[in-house]
Amino acid sequence: MDTRISGKTRLLGVIGAPIKHSGSPIMYNFCFDYYGIDCVYLAFECDESQVKDTLAAMRRLNMRGANVTMPCKREVARNMDKLSPAAKLIGAVNTIVNDNGVLTGHITDGMGVVWDLKDHGISIVDKDIVLFGAGGAATAIMVQCALDGAKSVTVFNRGEEGLMKVQKIGENMIADGVSCKMEYHLTEEAELMHDTIRKADVLINATSVGMRPMHEGQSLVSDMTVFHEDLVVYDVIYNPLVTKLMSDAMEHGCKKENVIGGKGMLLWQGAGAFKLYSGLDMPAQELKAFLAKREEEGVEPLQDIAENVPY
Ligand code: NAD
Repeated sequence: MDTRISGKTRLLGVIGAPIKHSGSPIMYNFCFDYYGIDCVYLAFECDESQVKDTLAAMRRLNMRGANVTMPCKREVARNMDKLSPAAKLIGAVNTIVNDNGVLTGHITDGMGVVWDLKDHGISIVDKDIVLFGAGGAATAIMVQCALDGAKSVTVFNRGEEGLMKVQKIGENMIADGVSCKMEYHLTEEAELMHDTIRKADVLINATSVGMRPMHEGQSLVSDMTVFHEDLVVYDVIYNPLVTKLMSDAMEHGCKKENVIGGKGMLLWQGAGAFKLYSGLDMPAQELKAFLAKREEEGVEPLQDIAENVPY
């Protein structure tokens, strides 16, 4: 790669803390190499108190852009010149694009799920979606599904506080003219939750329930009759690769190909960011093959790469 670095090479990077284990440099440099784009991508340690200095450095060094991860997503959003509609609604940024000194903040986490579903041949347009969770991942997914044409999004969350936060965001979307039916309920309303899933097209788990090691073997769905052959089940969790929700869904009537884990989410949120930086489609199939080969060789599996994603 060093053979293509020149005096004109532009810099991009990921900022956050901790950052050293981030897989983003591997992913984006592969894509720049693939297209022969004269850019290089590095990882920079940055906590919230360093965000303003880092953004000033981005302008000063004419960096093309940066991805943003924990704990900086909200602080970056507060310091952008412009925000995309989704980033404005959520108040968080995971991608900064620098156009001649004007920094625009975007959030592509929700795209990660919508584009991954598309990669599996599934569209969310006009679909009834049930979404578990009201944290960072769930909020981004709710907003993206509504912006991208879902018929309805019904959120179930275990706490009032988180639910009220997403409800406020949902209400702002409706006030902005987004046409999607939104409902917000507590997971404690188990009967309503199961009934809603039964009638839904897509169920998305965006909670940590099912995640290794703390919540492995757990699922928010206790009534197996909700699963049916037309239901798509997406779990944002990538460790384990198959969660209890996913194995229950496959065992109780969902088609295997319509039960999808969160491994592709990182790749596709990266594809959203890459498109913003370069205007080009990420070479997703080639990147997947490259990452699979690395995994086969025992080098840095995608789970490690994905570790740095959450807020
Ligand atoms: P967060 O802390 O912001 O939100 C966690 C959510 O889970 C909250 O809504 C919380 O109420 C809910 N929750 C936790 N324990 C629960 C329980 N026992 N019962 C009911 N609800 C419960 O976290 P986040 O950043 O939104 O991440 C959520 C999950 O998504 C994590 O497992 C994370 O690893 C995963 N994630 C995956 C990707 C990916 O690329 N695949 C990206 C981001 C997040």
